[in-house]
Amino acid sequence: MDRRHFFESSAVASTGALVGMSGHAAAAQTVKTPFEVAGVYIPVVDSDEFFPVRRIYCIGRNYAAHAREMGSDPTREPPFFFQKPTDAVQFVPQGTVADHPYPTLTKNYHYEAELVAALHKGGRNIAVADALNHVYGYTLGLDMTRRDLQRALGDEKKPWEIGKSFDHSAPLGAIHKVGQTGHFSQGAIWLKVNGQLKQNANLNQMIWSVAEQISKLSEAFELFPGDIIFSGTPENVGPVVRGDVIDMHIDGLPNLSVKIV
Ligand code: MN
Repeated sequence: MDRRHFFESSAVASTGALVGMSGHAAAAQTVKTPFEVAGVYIPVVDSDEFFPVRRIYCIGRNYAAHAREMGSDPTREPPFFFQKPTDAVQFVPQGTVADHPYPTLTKNYHYEAELVAALHKGGRNIAVADALNHVYGYTLGLDMTRRDLQRALGDEKKPWEIGKSFDHSAPLGAIHKVGQTGHFSQGAIWLKVNGQLKQNANLNQMIWSVAEQISKLSEAFELFPGDIIFSGTPENVGPVVRGDVIDMHIDGLPNLSVKIV
């Protein structure tokens, strides 16, 4: 099908699917599709709007003590980025304990508590001084990890995709607009399993601040509205099993809770 015919067909489409034609174009077109693919949206606190998720970026080894526990030297190794698929999001409503499925293929399933920044502006080569103007809001999230697969694949110098980027691997809460919370440069971040404190750190221990993460990330990728960034986890990551309840906290945000089922 040539391009002109494609757009003519679009004009008479009856299914009503709304898509961005180039993935990031401002203009959307109605196209006829054989089935519908669900978008991924996160509720915005005190709003009737939902935050549309474009991409999920995650930063690795952004707290020195966690870098050391993962076997690397934080003074020599710069942080790095990876992605989770957008539909890895598991939205967890405030005040609830969401059932989180224990994934297949792992015997060592780990939590990683992280601050998450949500962008409403994109760009390339964003300056650190301008970076926080790109943040729409924040939430807290879990970078759930099949640690045994991540390690084994890393040892074999293969992509650790299935260790990090699987279904439901990104539980997170509703987005709080910056106007309500301000930006997060310090404050407690902790995680409990069955009431027992496991991770306990301060956001000011990040090696790269959120502003610096946005700036560095925008050197590698053009960022767009809808991108979210998991900002890395502090030390003392560890395993959970079915029946465990995770409670996660960041000062200034409501707690996030999931039960492993
Ligand atoms: Mn992580």
